[in-house]
Amino acid sequence: MKLHILFLGEACIDKGAVISPGVDDGKRVHIPIPGYLIQTDDGKNVLIDTGMHKNHIDDPEYTFKGQEISKILLPEMRPEDSMVRRLAALDLSPQDIHYVINTHLHFDHCGNNYLFKDSTIYANKQHYAFALESPNFPNQYFDLPQLKYELLEGEPEIFPGVQAVLTPGHAPYHWSFLVSLKHEGHILLCSDAIYCQDNLDHDAWGGQAEPEVAKESAKKLLAIADEKDAMMVYGHDPDQWRTLRKAPYAFYS
Ligand SMILES: [Zn+2]
Repeated sequence: MKLHILFLGEACIDKGAVISPGVDDGKRVHIPIPGYLIQTDDGKNVLIDTGMHKNHIDDPEYTFKGQEISKILLPEMRPEDSMVRRLAALDLSPQDIHYVINTHLHFDHCGNNYLFKDSTIYANKQHYAFALESPNFPNQYFDLPQLKYELLEGEPEIFPGVQAVLTPGHAPYHWSFLVSLKHEGHILLCSDAIYCQDNLDHDAWGGQAEPEVAKESAKKLLAIADEKDAMMVYGHDPDQWRTLRKAPYAFYS
């Protein structure tokens, strides 16, 4: 099994205001928007999260124009950051993706779901229901009639070695994933349960929808990482990002 980390653009954010209140308040930083492609030993392509819609290339405010959040979060995408281009760099097209999994349904995690109408898309059932009702989850990116969702509950091992872990706090029924690889061992894709190392180092959870719940989820992830000797990959950490192997040049296996 291989794990490829895809760079799907950035967001220019007020770091303190968005991801680490009390740490770097007012400081503008660029955070990476990742997607993860898993290639299973039996030849299936599984994409975890689909990044931002390509319309942000020409119009960074495409999703949040006129909203308060656009003052502290601005997407930045180049043509090569689009999902189609990133897959092409691996000689793949959206039609080659058998399965999609959404960790959650924020705009930077499901913005390209529309491309995968031939795939089965896995999402958490209760999270999906919550997202449908909440303005923080622009429905146009996931609630599309041509898409085929399989809504699951709890903590399923969706594929052998791809284990969902419930980590609420960022959003209800948010999923992180424990990916088990033959050579590198376990990799814990925290997604937005932990945005960055500063959240842990400074116990800074105020950027999460439910800070106390998020703090408990982070503890859960730390315990799993400890038990499995797993490498934790944070959701949007610009410093850690520089240290990760990225597609198309390198992967984890
Ligand atoms: Zn995110």
